[in-house]
Amino acid sequence: MQRVAARMVDVGGMPVRRVLPTRERRTVGAWCFLDHAWPVEFDAGGGIHVGPHPHIGLQTFTWMIEGEVLHSDSLGNRQWIRPGQVNVMTAGHGISHAEDAPHDRAGRSHAVQLWIALPDAERERAPMFQHCPDLPHVARDGFDITLLVGDWLGATSPAQVFSPLLGADLRANGAATTALPLRKDFEHAVLCLDGEIRIEGEALASGTLLYLGTGRESLRIECDSGARLLLVGGEPFAEDVLLWWNFVARTAEEMAQATNDWNHGDRFGEVRGTGLHRLVAPSVEGLH
Ligand code: MN
Repeated sequence: MQRVAARMVDVGGMPVRRVLPTRERRTVGAWCFLDHAWPVEFDAGGGIHVGPHPHIGLQTFTWMIEGEVLHSDSLGNRQWIRPGQVNVMTAGHGISHAEDAPHDRAGRSHAVQLWIALPDAERERAPMFQHCPDLPHVARDGFDITLLVGDWLGATSPAQVFSPLLGADLRANGAATTALPLRKDFEHAVLCLDGEIRIEGEALASGTLLYLGTGRESLRIECDSGARLLLVGGEPFAEDVLLWWNFVARTAEEMAQATNDWNHGDRFGEVRGTGLHRLVAPSVEGLH
């Protein structure tokens, strides 16, 4: 098992823990990016406000635990995401979107945003957006398990992805112990989202990713009081991916092209109906 410490970054005015990628761990399956915005309270005008910006080569995957955010994109979608819901935006060849919390009231926010790298055969596909308001729940040994992605414990998530993946949120209201089956061909990792847990006897608190590798048939999870965790997994991603700004690609040339297309072209369409400012892509100079 490998412990990977998250680092603090600012995203649209909100402090978040960036869990992936790190120097020690780039991907878990096709999961290539993981930001955890832990529970925070804010006054009216607070919360996340990210103006129009582009993506390529990935899916953005948002899991909303508390709070609400309006997603607007260049395909014309305007969709509120609320607790217990997932938004999956497939960028493919190119899409742009904005994410905006309510401006007129105080609130609480707790969310996870992940990116999924698209495999080479899928990364130039047309962009699309999927809102998943109802996800399968499985009750197991005191844990309420929400299946975010994949097939697991007899349930199937409606979220459409393009490589073999698993994503699940597990929540216990009090002390609980369970052992859950895993696919041996998947690599897995666990992030504690709230409280404290033990994974195979190893204590884990928020802010550290526990990478479990492949070859496990089961996972023992315990907590002594209420806790919440995220389990991610997938077939180890065979392709080397390059992450830069909001893009996932393979070469610096692709990054330079996408940057130029966003700052000067119309490849990414237009996000209408948002009062937020369009972000400017930074220079790719120095990227190899
Ligand atoms: Mn985005």
